[in-house]
Amino acid sequence: MKVQNFGENTLFVQDRIKEGDIDVPSIAAELGVSRTRVYQIIARLGHSMGQKYASWRCRQCGMAHRGTPRAFCSRHCGEKYYHPTLVCAVCGNDFTRKRGLVRYRYKMFAKQVCSIACRNALLASYARMKKG
Ligand SMILES: [Zn+2]
Ligand SMILES: [Zn+2]
Repeated sequence: MKVQNFGENTLFVQDRIKEGDIDVPSIAAELGVSRTRVYQIIARLGHSMGQKYASWRCRQCGMAHRGTPRAFCSRHCGEKYYHPTLVCAVCGNDFTRKRGLVRYRYKMFAKQVCSIACRNALLASYARMKKG
């Protein structure tokens, strides 16, 4: 039977906070618990640690902040992370696209394009290259 050892987990998280390394996903992975659990532990520790709360970094801008650790320091940073601004490889326009789509849908081109029209232009240029 697996014993829920909350005490050791709490100590582990406390050490990480002291080191200023509050990367919740990696802590959760190392402990083999859910991220929610890690946040609960941090919240509990934060409650007793008061103002001595360690800093955490925003995933988008990398700025250090104090207080309850979050992935992003602001809504703006969250939006920027999930909708990064990209430059179209065909027309050079700035555009934003959901992060998931950036990674998967357009991976095959290894280039970012803003629209279907630009994608078609890119495909056409590849086709011309192939012909010689
Ligand atoms: Zn930020
Ligand atoms: Zn374009």
